[in-house]
Amino acid sequence: MWNNEYKSILGGLRMINHITVIGGGTMGRGIAYTAALAGFEVTLQDISNEAIENAREYIETLLNKNVEKGYVQLEQGTDAKKNLSYTTELSEAVSQTDLVIEAALEIMELKINIFKQLDELAPAHAILATNTSTMSPTEIAAATGRPDQCIAMHFFNPVHRMKLIEIIRGLDTSDSTVEVVKQVAEKLGKVAVEVNEFPGFVTSRMNCLIGNEAMNMLMEGVASAEDIDKALKYGLNHPMGPLELADLVGLDSRLRNMEYLYHQLGEKYRPSPMLVKYVKAGRLGRKSGRGFFDYTNK
Ligand code: NAD
Repeated sequence: MWNNEYKSILGGLRMINHITVIGGGTMGRGIAYTAALAGFEVTLQDISNEAIENAREYIETLLNKNVEKGYVQLEQGTDAKKNLSYTTELSEAVSQTDLVIEAALEIMELKINIFKQLDELAPAHAILATNTSTMSPTEIAAATGRPDQCIAMHFFNPVHRMKLIEIIRGLDTSDSTVEVVKQVAEKLGKVAVEVNEFPGFVTSRMNCLIGNEAMNMLMEGVASAEDIDKALKYGLNHPMGPLELADLVGLDSRLRNMEYLYHQLGEKYRPSPMLVKYVKAGRLGRKSGRGFFDYTNK
């Protein structure tokens, strides 16, 4: 008990100066951008040099564009760039960290492996969070010797625009860990909701079903991709069509989410054959230039 209190003081928000983001893909680069702009020191780590260079270019271009448009003050943009560092070395990325946010691929074995290494390399006080869309933070935390300091922080894409963070506590997550990540979410300018652990949480469970149904409708010839999306936008008031949204998420990421939910929750979540076929063809959505829609000229 005393130990928990002690941890809660050490892990208090005033101690969260440095955030490490693992994975520089769609989500990692967005989380790094948002955290640097909010005043945290940020290190973005990826195993791939190419991913790091792409992430750096994305973040700097977005910062410059938002300064030009007046959404971000010049000084704030300059400070954000100074707050950021990039590396492929995990040990270097976490040596001084207070909070790690893992945003690598949605593969349980990979996340477990990363958390094992984080547990060895990150300072004892550091909180270890995963940005998983669907998976069990309890199972990921069990790979570490600090399950009370492990949690899921589920961000949304694009991170700098989307307000929500779902906060999912694992079986052993401490109250102080929940409190600290809620305060970090607030400093990031986000709205946090606390969700009890269940595959897919609230948002992915709902969103995957809607997207899968849209793909099955497309496969059945119910309507064109454009018209399915238009129907949900103008008839059901969705800000984006489900197929456009799946293209934004990345169809490979969406397929991993569906496969996990299918294994955990059953038939209702069987991935649409259309989704499987598109991923096999390399049509991964925006990131590959083509998914349900064509982005090659955009
Ligand atoms: P992505 O494929 O765009 O990027 C993943 C990155 O992780 C790649 O750059 C890859 O090189 C890197 N990576 C792979 N193994 C690594 C390792 N061992 N160490 C460090 N980096 C490694 O994936 P994404 O869409 O950004 O998804 C990342 C996570 O965020 C997944 O868990 C996903 O479910 C979740 N998520 C995705 C979205 C979305 O809209 N795409 C939304 C919310 C949550």
